[in-house]
Amino acid sequence: MSSHRCIFCKIAKGDDPKTTILFQDDEIVVFKDRKPATSHHYLVVPKSHKTDAKSLGADDIQLVNTLVSVGNRVLEENGGQVSDALMGFHWPPFHSISHLHLHVISARQDMGWIARGIFRPNTLWFVTVEWLLDRLTKMKNNIE
Ligand SMILES: [Zn+2]
Ligand SMILES: [Zn+2]
Repeated sequence: MSSHRCIFCKIAKGDDPKTTILFQDDEIVVFKDRKPATSHHYLVVPKSHKTDAKSLGADDIQLVNTLVSVGNRVLEENGGQVSDALMGFHWPPFHSISHLHLHVISARQDMGWIARGIFRPNTLWFVTVEWLLDRLTKMKNNIE
């Protein structure tokens, strides 16, 4: 999907009145998932269009760390608990929106069985932040 037709690009530009922006800076925008799996389910989205976590390389480690720190901050500000949160990314081709986004879900034990399937850590379709950072670090070490 080209970026001008992408719903997350539209939200990032502030052009989607149906979406409430919970946080934004120059690089990142955060809003609630439209089909929340728990009472605290946020999407942390880079404003620049990147397709998915698989497309990231060694240069994106800082971006992933920034997504996580913003996710932690928004979660705490909205009354969620970082300690019981699940954070991760869809792995292609299993994503409905082709614009990179970090899912922040708290409390992870409150997820129903459907959500537990969709967001099951380190499957073919969903990976944790730790898994992704490990992959990107290995890429970096192979370059150096
Ligand atoms: Zn986009
Ligand atoms: Zn998603």
